[in-house]
Amino acid sequence: MATQAIPTWNNTHRLFVQALMSHRMLTEDQGLGIYRDICEMTEVTPMDDFSEFLGIVGHRLHDIDMTIKRTQHQLTGVTLLALVNTNADDIAQMATAHDVNEIHYFRTLISKIVTADNDSYSIRSIAALQLGQREMKPPMSQNTTESLLEQFVKEGWLEEVDGQYILSARTLMELGGYLADEYPEEINECIVCQHVITAGERCKNLDCQVRMHRHCSEQRFVRNRVVMKCPTCSTAWLRSNTFGAGL
Ligand SMILES: [Zn+2]
Ligand SMILES: [Zn+2]
Repeated sequence: MATQAIPTWNNTHRLFVQALMSHRMLTEDQGLGIYRDICEMTEVTPMDDFSEFLGIVGHRLHDIDMTIKRTQHQLTGVTLLALVNTNADDIAQMATAHDVNEIHYFRTLISKIVTADNDSYSIRSIAALQLGQREMKPPMSQNTTESLLEQFVKEGWLEEVDGQYILSARTLMELGGYLADEYPEEINECIVCQHVITAGERCKNLDCQVRMHRHCSEQRFVRNRVVMKCPTCSTAWLRSNTFGAGL
């Protein structure tokens, strides 16, 4: 009778979790590099299948309400790994690093980004700075707002592209539920991967809400050679019909 090997938890797993905790989000290639370095250090033969290793780590993390999620960056298509809290899908989880005013500013900023005109899902840096003075009570100075924005970028909640702030891959992944609850009209899912989408391609038919990430469209229409039509309304799909800042 075949017995299934029970993966043992060792220093390799422990060290990898520590690395994930300090980075929060890594590209898959970075993750693999770290895994190989750790294996060398702990003198363990790396598993052939990195995904399997991630599965073992992710499974164990469930005990502490964490998991490893995989996503692709909307603009670059690069695969990312993130350590995500499975218990809290709210901005409150930022409370460890920020006070009430800072979180209030972040919520306001998110609302401006999500409701921006023409589905740009972005805010110009200058407008983000002015927001601190105009909409916060008491108003935040330009310097305070500037360093707070820098902090949000450093922590991976925001990304800067072409002089604008956009929601980061981390925010889309960790606060996806919050975004969908608060902004059901504005927050859409990619029809291919079902992840939140704030930049990508959209159906030419203005009455149709279908959207796809660049990398999902690439997979569907280029690699899998599916007929280039909207999967819902069958309008011809034009890959140049994009939305969202940075594309
Ligand atoms: Zn997608
Ligand atoms: Zn359509």
